[in-house]
Amino acid sequence: MEKILNYINGELKSPVSGNYFENINPATGNPYSLIADSDEKDVEMAVTAAQEAFKSWSEMPVNKRSHFLLKISNLITENLERLARAETIDNGKPISLSRKVDIPRAASNFEFYATAAMHLSSEAHITHTEAVNYTLRHPMGVAGCISPWNLPLYLFSWKIAPALAAGCTVVAKPSEVTPMTAFLLSELCIKSGLPPGVLNIVHGMGTKAGAAIISHKNIPAISFTGGTKTGEWIARTAAPMFKKLSLELGGKNPNIIFADCNFELAVKTSVQAAFSNQGEICLCGSRIFIEKSLFSKFREAFVQKVKELKPGNPLNEQTRLGAIVSEQHMQKILSYIQLAKDEGGKILTGGNRIFLEGENKNGFFIEPAVIEGLAYDCRTNQEEIFGPVVTLTPFETEEEVLRYANSVVYGLSATVFTENLSRAHRIAAALHSGIVWINCWLLRDLRTPFGGMKQSGIGREGGFEALKFFMEEKNVCVKL
Ligand code: NDP
Repeated sequence: MEKILNYINGELKSPVSGNYFENINPATGNPYSLIADSDEKDVEMAVTAAQEAFKSWSEMPVNKRSHFLLKISNLITENLERLARAETIDNGKPISLSRKVDIPRAASNFEFYATAAMHLSSEAHITHTEAVNYTLRHPMGVAGCISPWNLPLYLFSWKIAPALAAGCTVVAKPSEVTPMTAFLLSELCIKSGLPPGVLNIVHGMGTKAGAAIISHKNIPAISFTGGTKTGEWIARTAAPMFKKLSLELGGKNPNIIFADCNFELAVKTSVQAAFSNQGEICLCGSRIFIEKSLFSKFREAFVQKVKELKPGNPLNEQTRLGAIVSEQHMQKILSYIQLAKDEGGKILTGGNRIFLEGENKNGFFIEPAVIEGLAYDCRTNQEEIFGPVVTLTPFETEEEVLRYANSVVYGLSATVFTENLSRAHRIAAALHSGIVWINCWLLRDLRTPFGGMKQSGIGREGGFEALKFFMEEKNVCVKL
């Protein structure tokens, strides 16, 4: 079986321990490659390489650094088909999604930060006739970047690209559940001529290799995307070491449908928002609140569309709903569907594990589930499920729906459908979410601040925010 190796100091390396564990294809349930089971020894080697590379990388003129990142972006685009296939086999997502969204976005992340770095400027403050203050920004040093399994290369590159563009060197770990495209990226980095040690990728388990990155004394900045529970552990570990932290965590996002909405648009977009990537996107709208006068009409149209969404072999071009990423995650989702029933919810469609035929007969597939009849504050409506499960809840007033929407511990994103402009602005301002989409979902501009409130995280990614995160600011005051 193919071995997924570490990328340290410009070379592909076996883990020091010599140990590997199996990587499972979720659409077949079978192992298909072996992952380096790295530990603190591998992380130590990666940090040493990154520290050695830091001086020349951080002092390199920004347009030269940018050149390397553009090269990587172009190589991702040239290898789009290979990477898309790898992402789909590793994660279970439909190949159409990998081709259209995941891999092009990874290329865009490198392109965006390659060019953004050349436009970063610093401020000057004139203190009357007395002094001039200006801001210097220095790259922090070695950055630690850790990403989850749902959008593997997309989110991995969303951290690595700004860190490298800012002049940091990087030690990164992808999720052990979906490490393949990060491994392929390391091959592309070698091809691009990226200097050794600038980017180091260590594979393995979160609690071992990941934890070693978080607690390493020579990694002063950590950019993490993943679950809120892991984020809490990271915050607890990193805070006493005074590390700079960016945490992008879980969500339980509301999708609010007012009776004055564009109905066709609201139904179509709500289906996408609920079930894209099998509902495994932190931005998925998993709680749909519908104004009472529209409730039954919406429910009927929504359920009908969801029934057309059949899980299938992710490698088929026609498939729109693929496999759940792992057996463990599938069991978690199924347990939440059982909880919804126990809490008195009525399943309008889906909710069962299904077994496909042929090579997919042991794959991890769940029919998309639509549930109604639950209180807004029950566990099903409060906890992140992160799968193809959505609840429908009626409301009567703006005040009521805001109370429902804001009742969770999360505050990542929200979607609102209304044709009433004043209402749209009013609701957007009142929602406790880092991102609000009006009459759309997941429409992204990489320049905008991206991140969550409350237990959805700390800090913002995107635009210059991410570049500045990887830099230390210094004020210089010159007396006139
Ligand atoms: P996890 O928190 O389990 O894992 C995320 C990453 O952290 C993985 O690489 C994991 O490695 C690693 N990790 C786990 N434990 C530790 C540790 N103790 N120290 C360091 N690293 C560790 O999240 P999931 O991978 O299950 O991802 C799903 C979650 O991510 C959901 O909650 C989702 O909402 C959130 N998410 C948030 C986004 C946002 O932008 N806010 C975007 C996408 C997802 P390993 O896999 O090897 O355990």
